[in-house]
Amino acid sequence: MTYDTIVEAGDGALITVPSGGRLRIIDLEGNQAVDTLLYDAHDIRHRYSAFDTIREQGAVYLTTGSRLLSDRLEELAVISADTCGRHDTVGGACAQESNVIRYGMHTRHQHACRQTFLAYGAPAGIGQRELGPNINFFMNVPVDAAGNLHFEDGLSAPGKYVEITASRDIHVLISNCPQLNNPCNGWNPTPVRLVGTW
Ligand SMILES: [Zn+2]
Repeated sequence: MTYDTIVEAGDGALITVPSGGRLRIIDLEGNQAVDTLLYDAHDIRHRYSAFDTIREQGAVYLTTGSRLLSDRLEELAVISADTCGRHDTVGGACAQESNVIRYGMHTRHQHACRQTFLAYGAPAGIGQRELGPNINFFMNVPVDAAGNLHFEDGLSAPGKYVEITASRDIHVLISNCPQLNNPCNGWNPTPVRLVGTW
């Protein structure tokens, strides 16, 4: 089948991709950040681990060939195509609490990825306990020699895409970030397109 949908900025999606299936995320207007979590579709406690993915590959950024590993060191998916070239998995998802700390009290009631994850994850039983560090597709978060993170203007551009191929049956939980306060979204969150083939 083919899955094809537009996800507006601030909206989300939960897609079950069978083993061998491919899911392409297209940055329609550029400079968008697509917060993504992966779960074993048969056991949501078996989930993506940013720590293990970084450590096992000795690479802090994700791109073509990156194996997206679980907290049991099993492969959930592989990045099979990437026209952007670099994706973050360190910066985390925005939450109302972190927005207040980073950007000030006036951001308290802005939409945030954590709420989107909970809303779209609920049908699969994904609750707060199952939310861990995520992937930020298209987001540019350089890590400097001192270990500091910097939220920078995105490297992406209109039409760039990243594609994952599922190594087993997985749930892909997406929050198309509504973050207005940093340059990774170009200060202007925009829609993305999801195209699945399996
Ligand atoms: Zn966000």
